[in-house]
Amino acid sequence: MLNQGIGSWPTRRARKTPDRVAVIHEDRAWTYREFHQRVLRLAHGLQDVGVVRGDRIAYLGPNHPSFLETLFAAGLLGAVFVPLNNRLTAPELAYNLSDSGSTVLVHAPEQACAARAAADEAGVRHRITLDGSHEGALGYEEVLAGGGTDPLDEPVAPDDPCMIMYTSGTTGRPKGAVLSHANIVWNSVNVLVDTDLGGDEVTLVAAPLFHTAGLNMTCLPTLLKGGRVVLLTAFDATRVLETIENLRVTYMFGVPTMYDAMAAQPRWSTTDLSSLRTLNCGGAPVPARTIATYLARGLAFSQGYGMTEASPGILFLDKEQTSAKAGSAGVPHFFTDTRVVLPDGLDAGPGQRGEMLVQGPHVMTGYWNRPEETEAVFADGGWLRTGDVARTDTDGYAYIVDRAKDMFVSGGENVYPAEVEEAVLSHPAVAECAVIGVPDQTWGEVGRAVVVLGPGAHADEPGILDHLHGKLAKYKIPKSVVLTDSLPRTATGKIVKSAVRASYANTPADE
Ligand code: AMP
Repeated sequence: MLNQGIGSWPTRRARKTPDRVAVIHEDRAWTYREFHQRVLRLAHGLQDVGVVRGDRIAYLGPNHPSFLETLFAAGLLGAVFVPLNNRLTAPELAYNLSDSGSTVLVHAPEQACAARAAADEAGVRHRITLDGSHEGALGYEEVLAGGGTDPLDEPVAPDDPCMIMYTSGTTGRPKGAVLSHANIVWNSVNVLVDTDLGGDEVTLVAAPLFHTAGLNMTCLPTLLKGGRVVLLTAFDATRVLETIENLRVTYMFGVPTMYDAMAAQPRWSTTDLSSLRTLNCGGAPVPARTIATYLARGLAFSQGYGMTEASPGILFLDKEQTSAKAGSAGVPHFFTDTRVVLPDGLDAGPGQRGEMLVQGPHVMTGYWNRPEETEAVFADGGWLRTGDVARTDTDGYAYIVDRAKDMFVSGGENVYPAEVEEAVLSHPAVAECAVIGVPDQTWGEVGRAVVVLGPGAHADEPGILDHLHGKLAKYKIPKSVVLTDSLPRTATGKIVKSAVRASYANTPADE
């Protein structure tokens, strides 16, 4: 077989473990044999509508097996898969479709309106809908059923592009990170080595598949190894707990807010979680209390740190170390090298804060059609700049203390909001918090905490500020607290600091 890309995985798995269950969604399950047959038919169907090597095929919809089938079918043809965030508006989608030059858009019925508008604006040639053909769109199952079953012999090399993933856009306009087949394979190998995923794994995918963590940290390594993937259409804390118990889930990934929501459910204390071998948490700083909640249940809770551009795993804190190194994002993955560098480019010593750089076979080669942004994101020697501020301890464990851009200067002192937020979050009434720098005549900038209280909880500005005294140096303590009902978040749960700044930087604190 000349296809050395991930498109060949279902075929290879069907040869090795045909009768094992590959994918479960709602009340249906597909073995590796069945999954492979569907992928092959879909690839032929796509070829029949004119897809050729190098074409971009976009996918828009909630978690569904067709997402994975389209990804692998694209890989069989040497085409490039473009997953889209299903919470984007039509103009945002049109931007991604045009930027990637996608010629085919596969989409769920829920997204029909936005998909139609965006596809028209971006000049997409074919729309393929999951709910059957409509005027102007082909039906997914019809395309698949019409496809042949002969083996496809399109040669695909490891360095060929596999997918274009648009980064969350919290740091500037969306850019497409081009990930090669080799990038995905090496990231999967890192995950398999560091989390000990096995062929008997039951992996719950509750994070969105369009985001790198949902797809590349959970789903793909499991399918490479021959485990089973349980897809939840979307995150729902109660459903997650029910599914863990009913299907004896062994592994899952979630951002901290997902884990917090699960632990806040009434059935949290009665759910049987004994099947879980590893819970992987990352995508944002993991609060100490989240870790404590899961450790108190006797669960193996590990932390991961990564970014889309690195496919995404960079650091991993083994579950054995979660207590001893609480708050650390761990050490580099097996095939990953990292450095923490000071602004002058020298390596930071233990305890010193600097930018985290990364190198490894899973790091992208660049952004799609953006040579300038690509050049800017790589430092000398080919190190990818993460834009995150980290420090390491004397054992080499890294702590992500902030994003490079998310820092403000108060009276000449740098304040890192992540550290302040952690302290504010330790107030029992505080559920969510974002700290920003706001202009100040005396100090240049001072901190402001934008806070969401827990359900039924009461706290006021003096009480929250008082709580911080003794915990933080004075210059780090915010000068004001704004109470609000919710914070702007990305689809994957990350607080969008730029939106917090836009809304609250000029709001008088007493409003
Ligand atoms: P994305 O490309 O959407 O995955 O976002 C990557 C960014 O999320 C990183 O550059 C970090 O700023 C943040 N991030 C991911 N994992 C962690 C973590 N474990 N701790 C702190 N920040 C994280």
